[in-house]
Amino acid sequence: MIRKSRIQPRRYRAFTERDIDRIPQLRAYDADRLLRMKAVARVLPFRVNEYVVDELIDWRRVPDDPMFQLTIPQEGMLDPRDLDRMVKLLRAGAAEAKIKASAREVQMRMNPHPAGQMELNVPSLDNEPVPGLQHKYRETVLVFPSQGQTCHAYCTYCFRWAQFVGIDDLKFAARESESLAAYLKAHKEVQSVLFTGGDPMIMKTAVLRRYIEPLLEDEFKHLVSIRIGTKATAYWPYRFLTDPDADDLLKLFEQMRKAGRHVAIMAHYSHPRELETPAAQDALRRIIDTGAVVRCQAPIVRHVNDNAKTWSEMWRTQVALGAIPYYMFVERDTGPKNYFQVPLARAFDIFTNAYTQLSGLARTVRGPSMSATPGKVLVDGVAEIHGEKVFVLKFLQAREPAWVNKPFFAKFDASATWLDDLVPAFDESSFFFERSMEEIKRGRRQPAWGDRPDRRRPLVLFGSVEWE
Ligand SMILES: *Cc1c(COP(=O)(O)O)cnc(C)c1O
Repeated sequence: MIRKSRIQPRRYRAFTERDIDRIPQLRAYDADRLLRMKAVARVLPFRVNEYVVDELIDWRRVPDDPMFQLTIPQEGMLDPRDLDRMVKLLRAGAAEAKIKASAREVQMRMNPHPAGQMELNVPSLDNEPVPGLQHKYRETVLVFPSQGQTCHAYCTYCFRWAQFVGIDDLKFAARESESLAAYLKAHKEVQSVLFTGGDPMIMKTAVLRRYIEPLLEDEFKHLVSIRIGTKATAYWPYRFLTDPDADDLLKLFEQMRKAGRHVAIMAHYSHPRELETPAAQDALRRIIDTGAVVRCQAPIVRHVNDNAKTWSEMWRTQVALGAIPYYMFVERDTGPKNYFQVPLARAFDIFTNAYTQLSGLARTVRGPSMSATPGKVLVDGVAEIHGEKVFVLKFLQAREPAWVNKPFFAKFDASATWLDDLVPAFDESSFFFERSMEEIKRGRRQPAWGDRPDRRRPLVLFGSVEWE
């Protein structure tokens, strides 16, 4: 039985780019500053809601306040020339089509499709691509339900920003649950299904149920876990408290548990303040009371959480509330990365500093981790080997399972912010996975577990050839 929430219900009310003038707390801003904010919001997605504005942002500390930086467009997110150009168009009252065209030009220069997501990860069934699914790592399939392709509020650094400004036109989205079920029936190697978006918690429970309920049948016993990635625990906890179908959602979690599935809510928390409100804490309690597990992850981003105190406080609070720290990610190489990125060396220092302040129960967290084209690459350490300062790296996940957990080394570089900036240490000409990765990219080879066995090629590891 799920206990009722004592939190007062709240009606969801969003502010988007068109309503910037209606946010009461922004009325004190001068016109020029507001215009620059609007210019940024024409290029990059913007949406907040009243709960975020009233409860999470500390308006006395604006503009430095981390929640303000996390949710409200910041001038520094655009290149100064692009900002200037957009401001001029808005100020001159330019035609809508002209503003849109300029915005699109700027967007296309911001690497809208990082990590080969569109080309490399869409699986196929009977030689037809299955839209709305991504299958990059053998054990886990990602699902992008078409009804879940927005969020209760957007993060300024969002790596999926391109779909919110209409570049992607929901190419990822799964329109029906049938193709998901058919794909999973044919792929018994899959142990985990991860619903993502956007934010699947945008969907009504009844819609989510259409995707999840079929997977509780016995023929999907190979699915150990069903995960739901969400920012709603932080941006709209009422989804789990007082929204009309909140109780039904928790019932669905219980039902999933009864069917023997591990239920994991992959909660995106960027700052400890998101865990502090009574609503946020009651939402966690109600989710955990169903038998679901809450695992927490977020990227490290400048202006929001690039210090050890923020992370240690956040991980400590998560453990206190019964949630489990899971990943610290590196901000991806897309969108307003110049404003938000943190060098790998600095991210590693912040991670280590925060990690060492906490008991083993919080050290379930791994990071800093880059979700790059070949896999999730962990910056595992900085070491000096035979007089050369190096990054010690390894894959936490990889397109080829055989790549996982093998240390490899890159020349230390204090300013590198992404895998692409790194070069192999010890005068090696390439990293061990690069040749195979190139072959996968060129379509000359499937990963060893791919679904076209006739096209399998040998996998080259450390110079030796392994057939899989
Ligand atoms: C992170 C990620 C997963 C899940 O990885 P876990 O380590 O199992 O949490 C699955 N697919 C993709 C594409 C991912 O980036």
